[in-house]
Amino acid sequence: MSLLLRHTIFSRHTPLHTCLRAMATERSLHVVENLQHVQSQVTVASNHRQVRLVAVSKYKPAEDLLAAYSVGQRHFGENYVQELVEKSKNLPGDIQWHFIGHLQSNKCKTVAAIPNLYAVETVDSIKKADALDKACVSVGRTEPLGVFVQINTSDEEAKSGTTPSDCPSVCQHIVDKCPQLRLQGLMTIGMFGRDTAEKNPDFECLVECKKKTQETLPGLCLELSMGMSDDFVQAIEAGSTNVRVGSKIFGTREKQ
Ligand SMILES: *Cc1c(COP(=O)(O)O)cnc(C)c1O
Repeated sequence: MSLLLRHTIFSRHTPLHTCLRAMATERSLHVVENLQHVQSQVTVASNHRQVRLVAVSKYKPAEDLLAAYSVGQRHFGENYVQELVEKSKNLPGDIQWHFIGHLQSNKCKTVAAIPNLYAVETVDSIKKADALDKACVSVGRTEPLGVFVQINTSDEEAKSGTTPSDCPSVCQHIVDKCPQLRLQGLMTIGMFGRDTAEKNPDFECLVECKKKTQETLPGLCLELSMGMSDDFVQAIEAGSTNVRVGSKIFGTREKQ
């Protein structure tokens, strides 16, 4: 039996390490191809607006991230604190990390201590904002940390997030009382399995939250973090400036 991997013929006489290396290369090539496809979709949908693509790499090995990095990807999103800490130690220092997992108050310091942390996208209460603000002081961050306020736009009990009606007051609190944080925008996960042929109520809700909040805080410019693998094009068309795409770039994830 032989296996054809990009111009290389493998047989049972090929040393194992050679096979493994080639398979790793094949895997990296897939990531690069997927990423470039997603990038071009983002470019088309954004229609000359500035839209940031965050490659969501939870559960994925360093080699996959490096493949994306090698073709210019710099923004990566991670959900688990320990995994983010490990990856940030072992991967290039100019990666810009987004923490997109559930934020626990007792993990704020660990997250804030990551030097190349770009933003925490999951600040879901005043209490969490205060904890993160305090954490930034105690770890000695020199620049304010970018944050997004997570909104539970689908009103699902299982989802974290501030209610849409509390959004302006949480934002106001961050602006007034959290000097170590820089309020960058609003974020939603939204309900899974929405019909992408129809208007997405989660996207509409987040756009509405932004409008209401900017009315309360004139001069504030808010980004929108919404859209994942199945709906990032639609999200950009609805006004997203930050899409978080995982499986369309790195393939499906094994539950761990
Ligand atoms: C996992 C995850 C994503 C990426 O999901 P895909 O459907 O794989 O693109 C985006 N945002 C958050 C908050 C996630 O947890």
